[in-house]
Amino acid sequence: MINCVFCKIISGELPASKVYEDDAVLAFLDIAPINKGHTLLVPKEHHVNLLDCPEPLLICLTLALQKVGRAVREGVQADAFNVGLNNGRAAGQLVDHTHFHIIPRFHDDGLQSWGQRHYSDGEAERVVAAIRSALVV
Ligand code: AMP
Ligand code: ZN
Repeated sequence: MINCVFCKIISGELPASKVYEDDAVLAFLDIAPINKGHTLLVPKEHHVNLLDCPEPLLICLTLALQKVGRAVREGVQADAFNVGLNNGRAAGQLVDHTHFHIIPRFHDDGLQSWGQRHYSDGEAERVVAAIRSALVV
């Protein structure tokens, strides 16, 4: 995809610190890490977000996520790691080539969790019904 920064990394047009690569996926260091070792895992095919990815590719991504997640944790001697995927602009997606963030975490890294909200009376039932009726199985 023209003008896609991650497609340019995959094609070799732009440099990256590559962590892992197979036929379907590439993992490389995020240029602006939340913690050192923050790694992005991307499919080699251009798909804008998770909802656009074909099922076989999702399997490849998930398998690589476990492999690379383990390596990131051990490589930087992290205590744990977060896996994130910003799906859409309102969710913070800036690069329109779907990607998982693998973020090493340390007990004392000072990062805050997201805040949490509450449901009012009956609201959870309405929300779950709306989500269930939208499910395509
Ligand atoms: P997102 O907000 O989920 O779309 O995340 C995009 C991520 O890509 C950000 O964390 C950026 O720091 C990272 N990023 C952007 N350009 C590059 C690049 N050339 N090499 C590595 N990471 C990049
Ligand atoms: Zn792309």
